[in-house]
Amino acid sequence: MNTEQKITSLRDELRKHNYNYYVLDNPTISDYEFDIKLKELQKLEEAHPEFYDATSPTLRVGGEVTKNFETIQHEHRMYSLDNSYSKEDLEDWEKRIQRILGDVEVEFTCELKYDGASISLTYEEGRLVKAVTRGDGFQGDDVTTNIKTIKSVPLQLTGDYPPKFDIRGEIILTLEGFAKMNQERIANGEEPYMNPRNTASGSLKLQDSALVAQRPLECLLYSVAGRNLGITSQFEVLGKARAWGFKVPTVAKLCKTTDEVMQFVEHWDIHRHGLPYETDGVVIKVNSLRHQEELGYTAKAPRWAMAYKFKAEQVSTVLNEITYQVGRTGAITPVANLEPVLLAGTTVKRASLHNADQIEKLDIREGDTVFVEKGGEIIPKIIAVDFTKRPADSVPTKYIEHCPECGTVLIRKEGEAQHFCPNDTGCPPQITGRIQHFISRKAMDIEGMGSETVELLFKEGLIANYADLYTLTKEQVMPLERMAEKSAENLVNGVAASKAIPFERVLFALGIRYVGETVAKKLAKAYKNIDALMVASEEELVAVDEIGGRIAESVVQFFENPTNVEIVERLKSYGLRFSLSEEQLENQSEKLKGQTFVVSGVFESLGRTELKKLIEDNGGKVSSSISSKTSFLVAGANMGPSKKTKAESLGVPIISEQEFLEKVEK
Ligand code: AMP
Ligand code: ZN
Repeated sequence: MNTEQKITSLRDELRKHNYNYYVLDNPTISDYEFDIKLKELQKLEEAHPEFYDATSPTLRVGGEVTKNFETIQHEHRMYSLDNSYSKEDLEDWEKRIQRILGDVEVEFTCELKYDGASISLTYEEGRLVKAVTRGDGFQGDDVTTNIKTIKSVPLQLTGDYPPKFDIRGEIILTLEGFAKMNQERIANGEEPYMNPRNTASGSLKLQDSALVAQRPLECLLYSVAGRNLGITSQFEVLGKARAWGFKVPTVAKLCKTTDEVMQFVEHWDIHRHGLPYETDGVVIKVNSLRHQEELGYTAKAPRWAMAYKFKAEQVSTVLNEITYQVGRTGAITPVANLEPVLLAGTTVKRASLHNADQIEKLDIREGDTVFVEKGGEIIPKIIAVDFTKRPADSVPTKYIEHCPECGTVLIRKEGEAQHFCPNDTGCPPQITGRIQHFISRKAMDIEGMGSETVELLFKEGLIANYADLYTLTKEQVMPLERMAEKSAENLVNGVAASKAIPFERVLFALGIRYVGETVAKKLAKAYKNIDALMVASEEELVAVDEIGGRIAESVVQFFENPTNVEIVERLKSYGLRFSLSEEQLENQSEKLKGQTFVVSGVFESLGRTELKKLIEDNGGKVSSSISSKTSFLVAGANMGPSKKTKAESLGVPIISEQEFLEKVEK
């Protein structure tokens, strides 16, 4: 096999594995094996840029940044749907249809209504060329770079597909994926996202496609638009799309009567709670495309389709007590402790009350009977009080003024909804929460230690902050509950081993509010060691790319606190890494400081990713589009003609790969 054949065969193989994993949910190799093959392909592609292919599986990781999403006219308008809420509504609709079509037999395709963000994908010759949001239905935003990172969206189709068509679908987050994202946010001290739908929709407009690539988004398809597609029914559309490589849920059903349609609706109204994603109803479509054409559209929706909306499931129960939780960052969350009740298939005992405003707005009191609903959120919420059942001796809720854990007076910053306990160094859940974050997998990854161990060590007075971990001895730990010689030894060894963790992760582990993994990396790279970071002012910090005012303020505050400084100094004395390694530093310079580069085309000696890394490592910025702020356009072979024209018209210098390399050469 020559190199080109090898590359093609690896691409085909990886596409197949992506398809098995993301579309069929049925992987046939391990993640590890997949990564090895992907790396092999990456290497080959970088060595042989002449075989570049925009649909290669290596391009799924993202990295292109979009500053402004271009507005694009839809070739086929994206309509809304009419809604129905009862069997009667559906029967009325069927009568209207029969009146227009006359005395013919009408069949219906029933599908679930996926609750996400709609998208229109354009394919030409089997390749994804455009992805556009619905917008106002006539025109939307070009979000192609972001959509390309979603692995269930095929970049290259298989089988017998038409030469050109649009396909519509919904971008969603699975409930599990959404929950994972929120766990990470909470671990980073950030507010969790409200619901999967808004988060999915917000993801499409992120500027950095690498961030989109990290989100567990999926794309479920449901309709095709185009000319001469050789398809006669909606049910056939679904099967064809599946055969071309799209993810099309298989629950769709062809129904001959309204009764059958109602059975489908009733079945899914109950069973939807077992699905991995959220649905807010059923969409019923006249099956024959010829009938659809005859029925046509109203001003806003097709006459041949109807959404049947599920009612959000609601129950009423008694609120026994309002308690308050203190998070790692000191944020207080009021919690409603409910008389257990069955809702959407699970027993609900607690509901979030969000904050003081929410309690006041709804006038929620202990002893009230309340209506609880499971909406988009994972934790059910209270939507209203049943005032008819309020006990005569009921008293208004007085929000706590002191921390339930440490007694400190709570504060509430202007413009913030949440109350905080400011006693961050003395409040037990804040202390243990911080240590738990410190030892977690993405931070110091201390083996042999879990959340319960942290609580136990704290309770026994063996640790009061994360620096104390490094002075623990086997003898101290052994007498603890459920500890033995071996586990005590593992714990102490695990702590010692963590001293080798690189600077950026130590920085993340410190648990500075708003400094998540990515921000920690950016700060480590910009400041190179903790001493420089500790004296940085807010103005200096915001000058670092992608560091905003909120992060800057939080970093400065953290290092203004003498307790934090003392702990950092102690950690330093134990030998933790507080600067970038020699190796990390070696490849860095400031040679390109203040310069912005746009990279276009295929290069001889390096891959695009390498080239971009080289720019960033030398202090430069990479941008995806040319503007008057661009310092240089680095041009490779087959550069896009529009980029060239734009650079020329704005007077942006165009340099070759060789000229660029000379700039960064030592
Ligand atoms: P609405 O926004 O309530 O007018 O509902 C119309 C939207 O439902 C469409 O724009 C689609 O994004 C979405 N939708 C979700 N699932 C389907 C489906 N199976 N068929 C058609 N539209 C769907
Ligand atoms: Zn407290």
